[in-house]
Amino acid sequence: MDYFKKFPNDKGYFGEYGGIFVSPELEAEMYKINDAYFSISKSHEFISELRSIRKHFQGRPTPVYFCKRLSEVYGGRIYLKREDLNHTGAHKLNHCMGEALLAKYMGKKKVIAETGAGQHGVALATAAAYFGLECEIHMGEVDIAKAHPNYIRMKLLGATVIPVKHGLKTLKEAVDSAFEAYLKDPVNSIYCIGSVVGPHPFPMMVRDFQHVVGVESREQFLEMTGELPDAVTACVGGGSNAMGIFSGFIRDEDVELYGVEPAGRSLQIGDHACSLSYGTPGVLHGFKTYLLQDEKGEPQPVYSIASGLDYPGSGPEHCMLKDTGRVKYTCVNDKECLEAFYKLSRFEGIIPALESSHAVSFAMKYAQENKKKSILVNLSGRGDKDIDFVVDNYGIGEKYIK
Ligand SMILES: *Cc1c(COP(=O)(O)O)cnc(C)c1O
Repeated sequence: MDYFKKFPNDKGYFGEYGGIFVSPELEAEMYKINDAYFSISKSHEFISELRSIRKHFQGRPTPVYFCKRLSEVYGGRIYLKREDLNHTGAHKLNHCMGEALLAKYMGKKKVIAETGAGQHGVALATAAAYFGLECEIHMGEVDIAKAHPNYIRMKLLGATVIPVKHGLKTLKEAVDSAFEAYLKDPVNSIYCIGSVVGPHPFPMMVRDFQHVVGVESREQFLEMTGELPDAVTACVGGGSNAMGIFSGFIRDEDVELYGVEPAGRSLQIGDHACSLSYGTPGVLHGFKTYLLQDEKGEPQPVYSIASGLDYPGSGPEHCMLKDTGRVKYTCVNDKECLEAFYKLSRFEGIIPALESSHAVSFAMKYAQENKKKSILVNLSGRGDKDIDFVVDNYGIGEKYIK
């Protein structure tokens, strides 16, 4: 059977991961969204509207670019899929436009979500403004203080931002608060998740909306070089940008796939977020995943220099692909990430997001070790949001560029 028909199964499982672990009330809503998704997303009208939005609003297709100077330095051939050039500067808008379009077809008036560093909140607020939907974003007070420019962006885009004031006042509490708000009015509102995580059908829907990245890349790479890349790589937080590009090559068995997790400051508890590499099966936010957890099954604290990657679990499809060995998962630490950030800026004139820099770092290593091979990186976002933080803490990078 075709990969996409087989995974997930009709209960939302990718192998033993995924599923729906929520209250019966919320589970019923998840099945309603699932049924609506299957009937609406296959319609000609939905497909052609989404295609038009991608072209005229988002600026797709984004290019594939050959890094000539960086490849000269490291050997091998390094290519980038330029999701940093997608409207709003990252791949997240791909699934937010899809989710908001589904909301419109379902007759919803409001989209609700949580956000950590604010990237998902900004992308969803953008989609809501486009469709004229109300948008309610739940964000921890601690995160509001840390990611203030994104807080302002959401407000400019017309979203209502609900500060979450209990517990640690960060992502976990924001998720609970957003689910609660959604359950108060599931008729008029819809929950929109920010990655290939959460209960079924979200991991499947978000993958399907990100699939365009893989489809475009495969075609563009073939057209540019006459062959497929030897390897494809992407950073993995929840795993949406990685599933997007991997899904375009998953049936090409000769193409190696590498997911890159953030090894942070060290591999001690609380210093990294390598859930696939070091986690164990557990349940988080309504689905089964590889989880960094303590003896009680509580998620452990996580950290990465790239706030979009600090999640204690991973998308269920990644968990399955790790077990089957189709995708290899590796780790890159903060220091290696910074080196890639500075090098891509200096050698190619492209300032990458710190999240994406993890994948660039792996590609540099791969190129050095495989001088005859090509590697395609999903450059998930641009680094404008990171420059103040990087320069204030690490300078402009002379010591990395010799
Ligand atoms: C949010 C974010 C990520 C991590 O999310 P995934 O779902 O793992 O893709 C990666 N890159 C950028 C630029 C982001 O904003």
